[in-house]
Amino acid sequence: SRKFFVGGNWKMNGRKNNLGELINTLNAAKVPADTEVVCAPPTAYIDFARQKLDHKIAVAAQNCYKVANGAFTGEISPGMIKDCGATWVVLGHSERRHADAGNGRVRTLVSLSLLLLPQGIDATWSSFNGRQGSVGHRHSFPRETAGYLLPVHPSTCDLCPTDNVKDWGKVVLAYEPVWAIGTGKTATPQQAQEVHEKLRGWLKSNISDAVAQSTRIIYGGSVTGATCKELASQPDVDGFLVGGASLKPEFVDIINAKQ
Ligand code: 13P
Repeated sequence: SRKFFVGGNWKMNGRKNNLGELINTLNAAKVPADTEVVCAPPTAYIDFARQKLDHKIAVAAQNCYKVANGAFTGEISPGMIKDCGATWVVLGHSERRHADAGNGRVRTLVSLSLLLLPQGIDATWSSFNGRQGSVGHRHSFPRETAGYLLPVHPSTCDLCPTDNVKDWGKVVLAYEPVWAIGTGKTATPQQAQEVHEKLRGWLKSNISDAVAQSTRIIYGGSVTGATCKELASQPDVDGFLVGGASLKPEFVDIINAKQ
Protein backbone atom coordinates (compact mmCIF):
# COMPACT_ATOMS: atom_id res chain seq x y z
CA SER A 1 0.00 0.00 0.00
CA ARG A 2 1.16 3.48 -0.81
CA LYS A 3 1.76 5.97 1.97
CA PHE A 4 -0.38 9.06 1.49
CA PHE A 5 1.80 12.03 0.55
CA VAL A 6 0.99 15.70 1.02
CA GLY A 7 3.36 18.34 -0.32
CA GLY A 8 3.04 22.04 0.34
CA ASN A 9 4.59 24.18 -2.38
CA TRP A 10 5.00 27.64 -0.90
CA LYS A 11 6.24 28.97 -4.25
CA MET A 12 7.63 32.53 -3.95
CA ASN A 13 5.60 33.52 -0.92
CA GLY A 14 6.13 34.52 2.66
CA ARG A 15 8.63 36.21 4.91
CA LYS A 16 10.20 34.88 8.06
CA ASN A 17 7.49 36.33 10.26
CA ASN A 18 4.45 34.87 8.55
CA LEU A 19 6.19 31.65 7.53
CA GLY A 20 7.19 31.32 11.16
CA GLU A 21 3.53 31.53 12.12
CA LEU A 22 2.61 28.93 9.53
CA ILE A 23 5.37 26.68 10.84
CA ASN A 24 4.05 27.03 14.38
CA THR A 25 0.62 25.96 13.15
CA LEU A 26 2.09 22.95 11.35
CA ASN A 27 4.21 21.96 14.33
CA ALA A 28 1.11 21.95 16.52
CA ALA A 29 -0.91 19.93 13.99
CA LYS A 30 -1.58 16.25 14.06
CA VAL A 31 0.20 14.43 11.26
CA PRO A 32 -1.27 10.96 10.81
CA ALA A 33 1.28 8.17 11.01
CA ASP A 34 0.21 6.91 7.61
CA THR A 35 0.79 10.25 5.88
CA GLU A 36 4.05 11.75 4.68
CA VAL A 37 4.22 15.56 4.69
CA VAL A 38 6.77 17.69 2.86
CA CYS A 39 6.95 21.49 2.63
CA ALA A 40 8.83 23.31 -0.11
CA PRO A 41 9.83 26.81 1.00
CA PRO A 42 11.47 29.38 -1.25
CA THR A 43 15.20 28.70 -1.60
CA ALA A 44 16.08 31.60 0.68
CA TYR A 45 14.08 30.03 3.50
CA ILE A 46 15.00 26.35 3.20
CA ASP A 47 17.44 26.58 6.09
CA PHE A 48 15.06 28.69 8.17
CA ALA A 49 12.17 26.30 7.60
CA ARG A 50 14.24 23.20 8.33
CA GLN A 51 15.45 24.66 11.59
CA LYS A 52 11.96 25.61 12.74
CA LEU A 53 9.80 22.79 11.40
CA ASP A 54 9.16 19.73 13.50
CA HIS A 55 10.87 16.72 11.97
CA LYS A 56 7.55 15.00 11.35
CA ILE A 57 7.54 17.28 8.30
CA ALA A 58 10.24 17.00 5.64
CA VAL A 59 11.54 19.92 3.61
CA ALA A 60 11.89 20.15 -0.15
CA ALA A 61 13.59 22.59 -2.47
CA GLN A 62 11.49 23.95 -5.30
CA ASN A 63 14.17 23.40 -7.90
CA CYS A 64 17.83 22.49 -8.23
CA TYR A 65 20.72 22.88 -10.63
CA LYS A 66 22.49 20.12 -12.49
CA VAL A 67 25.98 20.23 -11.03
CA ALA A 68 27.40 20.23 -7.52
CA ASN A 69 29.38 23.48 -7.56
CA GLY A 70 30.63 26.14 -9.90
CA ALA A 71 30.15 29.47 -11.57
CA PHE A 72 26.38 29.38 -11.82
CA THR A 73 25.13 32.62 -10.36
CA GLY A 74 21.80 32.31 -8.64
CA GLU A 75 21.58 28.54 -8.75
CA ILE A 76 21.38 25.98 -5.96
CA SER A 77 22.89 22.50 -6.12
CA PRO A 78 21.57 19.18 -4.79
CA GLY A 79 24.40 19.11 -2.25
CA MET A 80 23.45 22.54 -0.90
CA ILE A 81 19.87 21.46 -0.55
CA LYS A 82 20.93 18.40 1.40
CA ASP A 83 23.34 20.45 3.47
CA CYS A 84 20.41 22.59 4.60
CA GLY A 85 18.57 19.45 5.69
CA ALA A 86 16.08 19.31 2.84
CA THR A 87 15.50 15.83 1.49
CA TRP A 88 13.28 16.39 -1.52
CA VAL A 89 13.21 18.59 -4.55
CA VAL A 90 10.33 19.57 -6.79
CA LEU A 91 11.43 19.34 -10.40
CA GLY A 92 9.84 20.33 -13.64
CA HIS A 93 6.99 22.28 -12.16
CA SER A 94 5.14 24.10 -14.90
CA GLU A 95 6.09 27.39 -13.28
CA ARG A 96 9.77 26.43 -13.67
CA ARG A 97 9.57 24.75 -16.98
CA HIS A 98 10.75 27.43 -19.35
CA ALA A 99 11.73 25.37 -22.35
CA ASP A 100 15.32 24.20 -22.31
CA ALA A 101 16.46 25.50 -18.94
CA GLY A 102 13.86 23.61 -16.99
CA ASN A 103 14.12 20.50 -19.06
CA GLY A 104 17.88 20.45 -18.61
CA ARG A 105 17.40 20.34 -14.90
CA VAL A 106 15.04 17.45 -15.08
CA ARG A 107 17.37 15.53 -17.30
CA THR A 108 20.21 16.14 -14.92
CA LEU A 109 18.31 14.72 -12.04
CA VAL A 110 17.48 11.77 -14.22
CA SER A 111 21.18 11.31 -14.61
CA LEU A 112 21.54 11.50 -10.86
CA SER A 113 19.52 8.32 -10.94
CA LEU A 114 16.72 9.85 -8.99
CA LEU A 115 14.09 9.60 -11.59
CA LEU A 116 13.01 7.93 -14.73
CA LEU A 117 10.65 10.43 -16.15
CA PRO A 118 7.67 9.34 -18.09
CA GLN A 119 7.78 11.52 -21.14
CA GLY A 120 4.23 12.49 -20.96
CA ILE A 121 0.61 12.44 -21.50
CA ASP A 122 -0.73 14.68 -24.16
CA ALA A 123 -3.20 17.47 -23.83
CA THR A 124 -6.12 15.12 -24.30
CA TRP A 125 -4.82 12.87 -21.54
CA SER A 126 -5.20 9.99 -23.93
CA SER A 127 -1.66 8.84 -24.46
CA PHE A 128 1.30 8.50 -22.23
CA ASN A 129 4.55 7.47 -23.73
CA GLY A 130 8.30 7.72 -23.87
CA ARG A 131 10.88 7.23 -21.19
CA GLN A 132 14.21 8.46 -19.96
CA GLY A 133 16.70 10.29 -22.07
CA SER A 134 14.13 12.14 -24.08
CA VAL A 135 12.95 14.50 -21.41
CA GLY A 136 15.76 16.93 -22.16
CA HIS A 137 14.36 17.74 -25.56
CA ARG A 138 12.32 20.80 -25.93
CA HIS A 139 8.59 20.17 -26.20
CA SER A 140 8.93 16.57 -25.12
CA PHE A 141 7.91 17.31 -21.60
CA PRO A 142 4.33 16.44 -20.84
CA ARG A 143 2.31 19.54 -21.32
CA GLU A 144 -0.02 19.04 -18.42
CA THR A 145 2.16 17.15 -16.04
CA ALA A 146 3.94 19.40 -13.61
CA GLY A 147 5.74 19.15 -10.36
CA TYR A 148 7.60 15.91 -10.25
CA LEU A 149 8.41 15.80 -6.62
CA LEU A 150 11.67 13.97 -6.34
CA PRO A 151 14.02 13.24 -3.54
CA VAL A 152 17.55 14.42 -3.30
CA HIS A 153 19.72 11.36 -3.62
CA PRO A 154 20.42 10.13 -0.12
CA SER A 155 24.09 9.37 -0.50
CA THR A 156 25.58 11.65 -3.13
CA CYS A 157 24.93 14.66 -5.23
CA ASP A 158 27.46 13.60 -7.81
CA LEU A 159 26.36 12.84 -11.29
CA CYS A 160 25.56 9.22 -11.75
CA PRO A 161 26.52 7.56 -15.03
CA THR A 162 23.19 5.89 -15.48
CA ASP A 163 19.86 7.28 -16.54
CA ASN A 164 18.01 4.57 -14.72
CA VAL A 165 16.17 5.14 -11.55
CA LYS A 166 17.65 2.91 -8.94
CA ASP A 167 14.95 3.31 -6.41
CA TRP A 168 11.45 4.13 -7.50
CA GLY A 169 10.51 4.24 -3.85
CA LYS A 170 12.11 7.68 -3.76
CA VAL A 171 10.03 9.09 -6.60
CA VAL A 172 6.66 10.75 -6.30
CA LEU A 173 4.91 11.85 -9.46
CA ALA A 174 2.68 14.89 -9.29
CA TYR A 175 -0.02 15.38 -11.85
CA GLU A 176 -1.03 19.02 -12.11
CA PRO A 177 -3.28 20.06 -14.97
CA VAL A 178 -2.11 23.57 -15.84
CA TRP A 179 -5.66 24.88 -16.01
CA ALA A 180 -6.13 23.96 -12.36
CA ILE A 181 -3.01 25.65 -10.96
CA GLY A 182 -3.87 28.78 -9.03
CA THR A 183 -7.21 29.13 -10.79
CA GLY A 184 -9.59 27.81 -8.16
CA LYS A 185 -10.72 25.20 -10.70
CA THR A 186 -9.95 21.89 -9.06
CA ALA A 187 -10.06 18.81 -11.26
CA THR A 188 -13.02 16.64 -10.42
CA PRO A 189 -12.19 13.43 -8.57
CA GLN A 190 -13.15 11.57 -11.77
CA GLN A 191 -10.81 13.66 -13.92
CA ALA A 192 -7.91 13.18 -11.53
CA GLN A 193 -8.58 9.45 -11.18
CA GLU A 194 -8.70 8.98 -14.95
CA VAL A 195 -5.26 10.51 -15.48
CA HIS A 196 -3.66 8.91 -12.44
CA GLU A 197 -4.86 5.52 -13.61
CA LYS A 198 -3.29 6.14 -17.00
CA LEU A 199 -0.03 7.21 -15.40
CA ARG A 200 -0.01 4.06 -13.32
CA GLY A 201 -0.73 2.02 -16.42
CA TRP A 202 2.25 3.62 -18.09
CA LEU A 203 4.46 2.64 -15.18
CA LYS A 204 3.16 -0.90 -15.38
CA SER A 205 3.83 -1.28 -19.10
CA ASN A 206 7.14 0.55 -19.14
CA ILE A 207 8.72 -0.18 -15.79
CA SER A 208 7.10 -2.95 -13.83
CA ASP A 209 3.93 -3.94 -12.08
CA ALA A 210 5.67 -3.58 -8.72
CA VAL A 211 6.73 -0.02 -9.48
CA ALA A 212 3.26 0.81 -10.76
CA GLN A 213 1.73 -0.49 -7.56
CA SER A 214 4.16 1.26 -5.23
CA THR A 215 4.79 4.68 -6.80
CA ARG A 216 2.81 7.55 -5.33
CA ILE A 217 0.94 9.65 -7.90
CA ILE A 218 -0.32 12.85 -6.36
CA TYR A 219 -2.66 15.54 -7.64
CA GLY A 220 -2.05 19.28 -7.67
CA GLY A 221 -4.18 22.20 -8.78
CA SER A 222 -6.41 24.29 -6.52
CA VAL A 223 -6.65 21.62 -3.84
CA THR A 224 -8.42 23.00 -0.77
CA GLY A 225 -9.68 21.76 2.54
CA ALA A 226 -13.07 21.50 0.90
CA THR A 227 -12.03 19.46 -2.15
CA CYS A 228 -9.35 17.21 -0.69
CA LYS A 229 -11.42 14.43 0.86
CA GLU A 230 -13.29 13.34 -2.22
CA LEU A 231 -10.13 13.53 -4.33
CA ALA A 232 -8.27 11.49 -1.72
CA SER A 233 -10.92 8.78 -1.90
CA GLN A 234 -10.02 7.95 -5.49
CA PRO A 235 -8.05 4.72 -5.76
CA ASP A 236 -5.12 6.16 -7.72
CA VAL A 237 -4.85 9.52 -5.95
CA ASP A 238 -2.07 9.03 -3.42
CA GLY A 239 -1.87 12.56 -2.11
CA PHE A 240 -1.53 16.19 -3.13
CA LEU A 241 0.86 18.91 -4.12
CA VAL A 242 -0.74 22.04 -2.73
CA GLY A 243 0.08 25.63 -3.60
CA GLY A 244 -2.09 28.43 -2.23
CA ALA A 245 -3.81 26.39 0.47
CA SER A 246 -0.45 25.18 1.82
CA LEU A 247 0.14 28.68 3.19
CA LYS A 248 -3.05 28.59 5.23
CA PRO A 249 -4.18 26.70 8.31
CA GLU A 250 -6.44 24.61 6.05
CA PHE A 251 -3.27 22.77 4.95
CA VAL A 252 -3.74 20.81 8.17
CA ASP A 253 -7.14 19.62 6.88
CA ILE A 254 -5.47 18.51 3.64
CA ILE A 255 -2.81 16.62 5.60
CA ASN A 256 -5.70 14.81 7.27
CA ALA A 257 -7.69 14.24 4.07
CA LYS A 258 -7.57 10.48 4.44
CA GLN A 259 -8.66 10.41 8.06
P1 13P B 1 -2.45 25.79 -6.29
O1 13P B 1 -2.78 24.80 -5.22
O2 13P B 1 -2.26 27.20 -5.78
O3 13P B 1 -3.39 25.70 -7.45
O4 13P B 1 -1.00 25.37 -6.84
C1 13P B 1 -0.81 24.07 -7.24
C2 13P B 1 0.62 23.87 -7.51
O5 13P B 1 1.14 24.34 -8.50
C3 13P B 1 1.40 23.09 -6.53
O6 13P B 1 2.67 22.81 -6.99
